[in-house]
Amino acid sequence: MEFMKNGKRIDDRLPNELRPIKFEVGALERADGSCYVEHGGNKVIAAVYGPRAVHPRHLQEANRAIIRYRYNMASFSVEERKRPGPDRRSVEISKVSREAIDPVIIKEFYPRSTIDIFVEILQADAGTRSAGINAASVALADAGVPMRGLISSCAVGKVDETVVLDLVKEEDNYGQADMPIAMDVRTGEVTLLQMDGHLTLDEFEQALELGKIGCASIAEMQREALIQKYRGEENE
Ligand code: UDP
Repeated sequence: MEFMKNGKRIDDRLPNELRPIKFEVGALERADGSCYVEHGGNKVIAAVYGPRAVHPRHLQEANRAIIRYRYNMASFSVEERKRPGPDRRSVEISKVSREAIDPVIIKEFYPRSTIDIFVEILQADAGTRSAGINAASVALADAGVPMRGLISSCAVGKVDETVVLDLVKEEDNYGQADMPIAMDVRTGEVTLLQMDGHLTLDEFEQALELGKIGCASIAEMQREALIQKYRGEENE
């Protein structure tokens, strides 16, 4: 498959360009915090409940809140119908996403509690774990969960020997490498880094730099969406 033509990608973007991204804070009424995200062809909703009592009780921790994260892909979200329910992929993504967000949450404030994060993929076009993490991070802030910073995530990769930012499905599925990252852009701490495929050390460093720039742009959009929502409420 040919990915690059005259320096442009299959969807006409430059190698260092993100897809269009839109955050809607507080999209769900019954969650304590929520966020709907459109990221290119991805449509994702995150709902946060808590801090609240832990069930089953034996999971509770005496001096801090526990964080639970469930990533779920709707059966209608992909081209070929996905069998409903958890599978190895969603269990893995739930685990790495929880670990990506966990470090910024100030868990000591809520002993014996849980903060539950639900991420539902309504439409998928590569980068759904990143879109989910971005939405979850904003939903946590919307819920008023105390955090040291926001986590921002995007994928980088390689197609036709070119390092590119924010892969679409064809680039992700048939390209040479796919590397999702997540980080706290304030501190520079990287909290998720996975890789499918191959990169040379040089390409890896180039990709990481590009990913950090992508995360910084996304962090700005997350911040802006939160400010918009709460500034709006102040004026009501
Ligand atoms: N995908 C699919 N069916 C599946 C899983 C994935 O069609 O059961 C597609 C979907 O568009 C997804 C993409 O493949 O976004 C890449 O999946 P990957 O596992 O790399 O995770 P993601 O990039 O979404 O975080």
